[in-house]
Amino acid sequence: MINVESYVAGQWVAPGDSAQVIKSAVSGEEVAYAGIDHVDTQAMLAAAREKAGVALREMTFHERATKLKALATLLNDNKDALTELSFHTGATRSDSAIDIEGGIGTLFVFASKAKRELPDDRILIDGDTEQLSRRGSFLGQHIYTSRPGVVVQINAFNFPVWGMLEKLAPALLAGMPSIIKPATVTSYLTAACFRLMVESRIFPADAMQLIVGRPAGLFEQLQSHDQVSFTGSAQTAFALRSDPHLLKHSINFNAEQDSLNSTVLGNDVDAGSEEFDIFVNEICREMTTKAGQKCTAIRRIMVPDAMKIDVADAVCAKLASVTIGDPKLADTNMGALVSQAQRDDVVEKSTLIASEAKLVFGGAPPDVCGADINTGAFVSPKLYLCENPDTAEHVHATEAFGPVATLMPYKNITHAAELVNRGGGSLVASVVTEDAAFARDLTLACASHHGRLYFNNRHSDEESTGHGSPLPHMTHGGPGRAGGGEELGGIRAVKHHMQRTSVQGSADILTGICNSYIPGAAQDNSAVHPFRKTFGQLSVGETIKAGPRKITIADIEHFAEFTGDKFYAHMDEEAAKANPFFPGRVAHGYLLLSFAAGLFVDPAPGPVLANTGLNGLSFQKPVVADDSISVTLTVKSKKRRNDDYGEVRWHVVLHNQNDEQVASYELHTMNAFAKS
Ligand code: NAP
Repeated sequence: MINVESYVAGQWVAPGDSAQVIKSAVSGEEVAYAGIDHVDTQAMLAAAREKAGVALREMTFHERATKLKALATLLNDNKDALTELSFHTGATRSDSAIDIEGGIGTLFVFASKAKRELPDDRILIDGDTEQLSRRGSFLGQHIYTSRPGVVVQINAFNFPVWGMLEKLAPALLAGMPSIIKPATVTSYLTAACFRLMVESRIFPADAMQLIVGRPAGLFEQLQSHDQVSFTGSAQTAFALRSDPHLLKHSINFNAEQDSLNSTVLGNDVDAGSEEFDIFVNEICREMTTKAGQKCTAIRRIMVPDAMKIDVADAVCAKLASVTIGDPKLADTNMGALVSQAQRDDVVEKSTLIASEAKLVFGGAPPDVCGADINTGAFVSPKLYLCENPDTAEHVHATEAFGPVATLMPYKNITHAAELVNRGGGSLVASVVTEDAAFARDLTLACASHHGRLYFNNRHSDEESTGHGSPLPHMTHGGPGRAGGGEELGGIRAVKHHMQRTSVQGSADILTGICNSYIPGAAQDNSAVHPFRKTFGQLSVGETIKAGPRKITIADIEHFAEFTGDKFYAHMDEEAAKANPFFPGRVAHGYLLLSFAAGLFVDPAPGPVLANTGLNGLSFQKPVVADDSISVTLTVKSKKRRNDDYGEVRWHVVLHNQNDEQVASYELHTMNAFAKS
């Protein structure tokens, strides 16, 4: 029997008298005792805000990312022990992999994206500089900074590990401590994972705390910088987000709710084709993975009217081959629901669906392998066929949170889209088709009602990630019924935990704030060529000017011969003149870039290791023969990559002999920490 402890202000707190007994979903035996009597929410919030938050905010994004990766590595080393516990929740080994390895993978992805996409800094620049005045002496820049608050994370029972980790990763990267409240029924698994993280001391103490049970009194003490991230049913979300204190103080409430997700068979698909098999397999996988207890699971299946019998027969045949039973057994495809109460709920919700649709699979109690159907929360998958989906209500509105789905025929693409959108806002809809025009039309009709649209066919199937998988790189959430929230989406999720502010001022002030050179700011003419300086020696704003170099007609012709680029604008005076952009024959843009490099490069071996690319190249004014170009190279920003080298971004501008800007771009180099 596990005593599931909460973690409050650095102390482990045992369950109290009000704790509930949690039973194994498989055997019915008592597994855990969970529920705290009293939470010292004041101490908890003080520890988060005054200690952990301060320590987190002192770190750069990269320092937080390094710790996140260490956390992921630690959990990866312990995943087998977590999987053992997970069997009690009714999850099979592959269900647990989605939850546990999926959660760990999410940490790894966030850590690596943060290293690549965020600066080694504490301020994140958002978008381009905006020129707010005519002469450019007053500018605007959006930035993100960490909020001095705490995020309360309330999770659903079905993903005890992934649910915690997918919220924790972006919060920690953003510099926000978390108070985690897992669903009680699977809290023993969340708590086991949580304990590993806390005891590792990888993150500052109290950067994460845990409340097992109801967080009474917590909401009333939240402040405007705090945030609530909720996952669960629409009903609970509504009750919590209506809290007067949250509303009064504009406390951000992100909700991931239930959703009546659909899948659509394209009208180009024939029975027996590869797409048909993909469609049927995905439906069965979605119905049976985690015994259908997935917020993204397929609940509604739309097929062309002529295909409904073929699809129903194929899905029934596939469901008939599913082995239900003890999730520990290798042959088991579908385990148990999380509890007897959940089974009762699924049965009750199925009755509502049955009032509008015919049951075509799952009428009898299932054969259960290696477990007792009377003590475990086992159910059969249930497939319904609704012949009149236009007049039906429950099939579009009732989430039976188990292996239950309803098939419905559509007449044409407009009708299919109408049915899909009857979900009132969903997390995901999938479409199996080879017809890109069908995909576009459905996107135009349904994207507004969905957080994610997933298309699959024979060309993508092998590597596709599955209808039901939220990915750390892509946003997870959906409008309307699905809660209107947005999680994941890579760095977007980090930004959700930060404050965006527009800062306005001169180029020098903005450069100083952002630690990134903004054109117009003072440039520091370097006495030593910057290519001779190590990564650490270079500073933002450091500049060299080089040139001029005269461009001759011979240069243009030589470049044309050498590269093969004999575009008429470089070679034919009359034709070039007829072009509205050119006064006559002009130099190749790439010739200008090459000459610029020839002007600013310091050739001897040194700290510059490689030119890794350029961004934002634009040619602003044509350069003709006898013009002279000069180049200005300024250190824009620096980002450490590892202990040996870092990336330097250079602001490069080319001018002609009249001091008119003819081209600009951002050059990237890798620079060593040590002189070679
Ligand atoms: P739930 O009953 O709504 O509970 C969700 C969480 O809210 C649990 O931690 C629960 O704690 C807590 N809670 C309930 N009442 C509360 C209160 N008054 N104050 C504070 N916390 C409270 O949902 P569930 O049964 O755990 O999960 C299943 C539902 O979640 C399904 O509808 C599913 O679609 C949805 N879901 C959505 C997503 C998504 O990303 N959109 C993901 C997974 C699941 P207790 O356990 O202590 O009651």
